[in-house]
Amino acid sequence: MSNDERTFVMVKPDGVQRGLIGEIISRFEHRGLKLVGAKAIQLDRELAEQHYAEHEDKPFFDDLVEFITSAPVFAMVWEGKDATHQVRRMVGETDPAESPPGTIRGDYGLDLGRNLIHASDHEDPGSNEREIELFFDEDELLDYEQVTAEWQY
Ligand code: ADP
Ligand code: MG
Repeated sequence: MSNDERTFVMVKPDGVQRGLIGEIISRFEHRGLKLVGAKAIQLDRELAEQHYAEHEDKPFFDDLVEFITSAPVFAMVWEGKDATHQVRRMVGETDPAESPPGTIRGDYGLDLGRNLIHASDHEDPGSNEREIELFFDEDELLDYEQVTAEWQY
C-alpha cells in the first residue's frame, strides 16, 4: 500500500453554504493526509453529468445534477496511505441518517439529498484517478514534502 495514494473530495453546495469547508479540511489535515490540490468552482451541467455518469439511469439523477450545479462546490485532492478508503470511512455512509457520529455525514447531515460531501469510491478502483483528472489539470496539483510525514509513516 503506497503512502502517496491520491483521492478526490468535494464539499457539495450544502457544505459550502453552511460554512463547513474549514471543518472538513481540518478533519483530513488532522488525520495526517496531505492537501495537494484545491479550488472553489461552480459545476456546469456537462461536468456534473460526467462526474455522476454512473448514476445516469437512477431516478435521482436529475435532482442530483440540479443540486450539485446550484451553487459553488469546493474540490480537493488529498494524498496519503490508503487515502481513498480512509477518506470514505471518515465521510460515512451515503445516507447521513445511517452514518455513525464521528463521520462527516453523521456529524453534520440528516438527509440523503444533502449529504455535504463527495469522495471517490474505494470499491470502484480507478475512480479516484478518474475524478482527479476530470476536475484538475496536472499543473494544478502540488508535489511537496509534508514535514509531519516522517512522524506518521
Ligand atoms: P456516495 O456519495 O456515498 O458515493 P452514491 O455514489 O451512491 O453515494 O450516490 C451519489 C450521490 O447521489 C449521493 O452522495 C447522494 O447525494 C445522491 N443519492 C444517492 N442515492 C440517492 C437516493 N436514493 N435518493 C436521492 N439521492 C441519492
Ligand atoms: Mg459514489
